[in-house]
Amino acid sequence: MTDSILIVGGGTAGLHAALECANAGAKTIVVERGPVVGGRLAAVMLKPDAIGDRSEGLRTPLFEALEGNENIEIITLAELENIEGRPGNFIVSVNQRARFVTDACTRCKNCHTVCPVVAPNEADMGLNYRKAIYTPMSDTLPHEWVIDIEGCLNMPPNYLPCQRCVEVCDDNAIFFNLPLNTIHERHVGAVILAPGFRTEEPDRFVGLGYGAHPDIVTSAELQRLLESPGPTGGFASKPSDEEYPDSVLLVLDNPSQFALYIVASQTHQLIEQDVEKVSVLLLAAPVDDAQRTAAQALADTAGIDVRWGGMFKADSTDENNFEISFEDLTQNLYVRENYDLVVLCSDVEPPDGLPELAKTAGIELSDDGYIRVNDEAGIATTREGVFATGCATGAKNIKDSLTQAQSAAIAAIAQLDPRQLQSGDSEVASDTTAESKPQLPPDMRQQIEQLLYALIDR
Ligand SMILES: Cc1cc2nc3c(=O)[nH]c(=O)nc-3n(C[C@H](O)[C@H](O)[C@H](O)COP(=O)(O)OP(=O)(O)OC[C@H]3O[C@@H](n4cnc5c(N)ncnc54)[C@H](O)[C@@H]3O)c2cc1C
Ligand code: SF4
Ligand code: SF4
Repeated sequence: MTDSILIVGGGTAGLHAALECANAGAKTIVVERGPVVGGRLAAVMLKPDAIGDRSEGLRTPLFEALEGNENIEIITLAELENIEGRPGNFIVSVNQRARFVTDACTRCKNCHTVCPVVAPNEADMGLNYRKAIYTPMSDTLPHEWVIDIEGCLNMPPNYLPCQRCVEVCDDNAIFFNLPLNTIHERHVGAVILAPGFRTEEPDRFVGLGYGAHPDIVTSAELQRLLESPGPTGGFASKPSDEEYPDSVLLVLDNPSQFALYIVASQTHQLIEQDVEKVSVLLLAAPVDDAQRTAAQALADTAGIDVRWGGMFKADSTDENNFEISFEDLTQNLYVRENYDLVVLCSDVEPPDGLPELAKTAGIELSDDGYIRVNDEAGIATTREGVFATGCATGAKNIKDSLTQAQSAAIAAIAQLDPRQLQSGDSEVASDTTAESKPQLPPDMRQQIEQLLYALIDR
């Protein structure tokens, strides 16, 4: 038996599970596909209050706690390549791609100034730009920058026509002669899969005006603007001119429970930022009396105007805002209204590459494409000793992701020999594990959420 656990996916769920395992004394290896850990909520891990109390009293892991925990090993730019063996005794292989920048990097930014290659920054949902040598955010774990070798002029490596970054790097942190791939083998007792989810491609919204104007954004893009530290320091501003919007329209064409959750959360954040007029347009079935009452309650409680619309069209005006036209199914009227910012609410899907990961891990997926789990806690996959957590088993909020991560960690630890566990860092643990805070009375976001749910016949 071994004292180690492998976690695939370094987002909220994977990192929380990692801290739980590490603090219980297990050597914990986190394998993250991207260049930095944090997943969808990486910004939150820089600044605990970056999203207010949207984790509802539970603490998301912080980079500081992860770095300070000697039981945690993080392997970025890496993917699981093979698992052999049985619970308590798995041999896993992990394939890591080269970063080309070593931990000697001091984040001085000299290379950023000289690199001639510009690309959209994926971490900012493409709202900002980065260079081929870059850091996705203002602070990251690991700290060192990374080279996007696909975009770099030195691609393929060792053919070196550019070298501008190497020339200005006083810390001697950039090397193009590193092996392109490194295989790591580890002996682990259990595996936790936490590869998260992805948001729908914005292309789906072209028919609703996405791409026609920079101030028509998706909810994933708005989320990045609302996160501190995001591209605008945590404020909803219009991408076209960085001015604050006075009026925002959130348009929902697929009112799944998770999409409604996101709308409720973002509506609340916009109201908190003193946006004068926040409206929600549901491109969905006509109202009945109960829905009409819920819409009125929403208007009275939070000052949100809720409409049920048929057709929808956004035309930009001379005043740099939009004229929105839609068929108001509540009043059977054709309506035209002006807004400064339009948010098209995207839903979420299983993450890219999940079928391949499932095949490698020897587990099954459900009909909806997420990882199949068959126990009450929602963590036991179809292979013994392999657990799943977070949004990879279905969309969920931060609180549920963290709770499930804790269950997965407990189940994984049970596969290890307790005599081999090393003592963890209890100081870090008390600061970052799930704290049971006293239950707060429902806040406005919860009220908005409840009322939005009431609008949909479910
Ligand atoms: C627009 C939007 C708004 C939201 N607002 C809220 C809110 O207000 N409140 C709230 O509670 N929740 C909110 N959520 C939900 C919240 O983001 C999730 O609960 C949380 O991010 C789930 O964490 P996760 O670790 O499961 O997934 P992720 O954060 O997606 O992390 C998964 C990680 O796994 C990595 N990965 C993927 N595949 C592999 C692989 N094959 N190998 C290795 N690594 C891999 C990814 O790179 C990523 O780092 C929102 C979500 C969205 C999309
Ligand atoms: S790679 Fe070198 S030049 Fe670039 S930020 Fe790091 S230390 Fe500075
Ligand atoms: S070698 Fe690549 S990363 Fe470095 S400056 Fe040139 S294009 Fe940018």
